[in-house]
Formats: sequence, structure tokens, C-alpha cells
Amino acid sequence: MGEFDLIERYFKRPAHKAVLGVGDDCALLMPSPGMQLAVSSDMLVEGRHFVSTVDPERLGHKALAVNLSDLAACGAEPMAFTLALSLPRVDETWLAGFSSGLLRLADAHGCELVGGDTTQGPLNICITVMGDVPPGDALLRHNAQVGDDIYISGTVGDARLALEVFRGTQSLDAAGLEQARLRMEQPTPRVALGLALRAVANSAIDISDGLLGDLGHILKRSGVGAQIDTHWLQSASSFGDGQAAGITPLLAALPWNKRLEFALAGGDDYELCFTAPVNQREMVHAAAWESDTPVTRIGRITEAPGLVLLDPQGQPITRRFASFDHFA
Ligand code: ADP
Ligand code: MG
Repeated sequence: MGEFDLIERYFKRPAHKAVLGVGDDCALLMPSPGMQLAVSSDMLVEGRHFVSTVDPERLGHKALAVNLSDLAACGAEPMAFTLALSLPRVDETWLAGFSSGLLRLADAHGCELVGGDTTQGPLNICITVMGDVPPGDALLRHNAQVGDDIYISGTVGDARLALEVFRGTQSLDAAGLEQARLRMEQPTPRVALGLALRAVANSAIDISDGLLGDLGHILKRSGVGAQIDTHWLQSASSFGDGQAAGITPLLAALPWNKRLEFALAGGDDYELCFTAPVNQREMVHAAAWESDTPVTRIGRITEAPGLVLLDPQGQPITRRFASFDHFA
């Protein structure tokens, strides 16, 4: 199978939102009048972001999910994406799985694959997503205000727990491992929550490298500090029809120190961390219900710079948590 047959078979879909999709030198998009275009790229490299044995369908999902997560963090509505793919060989079973995981998530978010590039080489997946957002509504990192509440969506720490099981430092039974592994391999981009927070949150970021490290980006860009509580790490809470909030029972079963490390600095969570004024608490809860996404309040923005972590008795925790940095 040649390059063009491969594109035709696995990546060409009829365009609905786009004026012109896959097949020409450029795709043509028509953003809604007056809207700003939000654009973001994320690359997944074999051996760095995933192992060669990962299920291709889950990998297709994850490749797009991590990109949609960036749109979510900006409060942008997904529109289209491009896929630059480097493949060692044409493996049709792999391609069928990869494209079905990718396109299923794309369809669920009305985000169309409009173009890309395909070449031979080490397995590497680079996606660029585009979304739209009304001018002035984008949720950004620089606007956290002193006094804001700090929240996270969903649960944190399970992806790291799965990674540690693969590394052999933790163990889980089969059902527990599958649950944690799904969080690592098939994260849920919080697009609906991001949209619902547009007029509510002051700042937001998606958690890819660890909660404290990513929150640190908000603090730095906003010129503020934060106090983070840990009482929400004492047990799993539940939201709506039984979704876990804050941490899952799997994480709650770990010793306290591991729980802190995985939840606060684990990485690969793809949840949102955002700040909102105290007088918006009801609106934050409404946004959570409207988007069926658990939200947990974990602390507040302070004038004093730096990040203070408090134990459940309110005493400062002095231990340091490193967040993920590819070049550190
Ligand atoms: P060009 O020669 O202009 O770079 P290509 O021959 O690489 O174009 O690609 C042909 C068409 O297929 C283009 O419309 C391109 O956007 C699209 N395309 C290539 N690879 C992919 C892919 N992996 N997914 C979606 N579309 C792709
Ligand atoms: Mg090309």
C-alpha cells in the first residue's frame, strides 16, 4: 500500500465544517465571523510518550485527546486538526486501530481531520488542533487573581500509578490496573468544562506534567502565589452518578506519601486546573454539572509568591515535588 492509498483509506473523511478537507495542498477553514482561532500542537514520540506495545486504538485516542485538552484549557471549541505522522512501516492492523481510536474521539468533539503529512521514519505523531473562542473569552495562564479559589477537574494521579506498575514499583490487581491504565492511555479531554468556564474562570491550564508544576505556570505568569490544601487527598469523593472526584479509590488506597507524589506531581492527567473568584463558586458548580465533570476546590491564590502546601491539619509540608521536564 502506497502513501496516498494509506491516507485515502485511513485518514480521509468527508468534510462538514471545513470548506475543504484532506486531498489538496491546503485545507480551507471558515471560522465563524468575529471568532478568534485557538491553535495548539502536541507531539507523541515512541519510547518517550508511549511504548511500542500500546494498543493502537488507545494511542489514536490519546494523540488527539492531549491536543483537545489544550483547547479545553483555553475554553476553545474544537473545529479541526491536522495529523503529521511518521511510520516505520505500513501495518494495516495498526493503522486501522489507530485511525479508529483517533477518529472516534474526533467525531465525539466535532473536530475534523483536514490534512497532514505522512512519511516513513520512527513512530512519531504530531497533531495540530484548531478551535474557536469569542474575543476576550479565552482562559489564559496570566490572569489568576489574589483570593481566587483553585480547582481541578476529575481525578489526578492514576496515570502515574499505572506507569509505576509498569515500572514495577507498584502493584495492582487486574481490574485496578485496567482502570489506572485507561487513565494513562485514554485520557478524557475536558472540553465541555472548558467551554462552561469561559465566563467564570480567571485562569486555566491543563495538567500534563504534574499538578503543582503546571499550577506553577499559572502562578508565575500571573505574578501570584498559592496555598494548596490536601484534605481532598484523604479519600475519594464522588460526583454525580458516581464519578470519583479529586482522587480515585485506587489512589486513596496508597500510603499518604505516594498519594501526594502521584496526585500532585504525577503527570499525564489531562485534567484542568483553574482559578475563579470566590463569588463565582455557584457558577463553577453549575459549570461542573452542566458538563458532567467533577470539580474539586484545592486551595486559593495568595499575594505572597510561591506555593505553600498544607497538610490536613493545616501545617506546611516542606517536601518538594518535581514536575516533569523533558530536558531536566
Ligand atoms: P503535499 O505534497 O502537498 O505535502 P501530501 O502528498 O503530503 O501533500 O498529502 C496529500 C494530501 O493528504 C494533503 O491534503 C494532506 O493534507 C493530506 N494528508 C497527508 N497525510 C495525512 C494524514 N496523516 N492525515 C490526514 N491527511 C493527510
Ligand atoms: Mg506532504
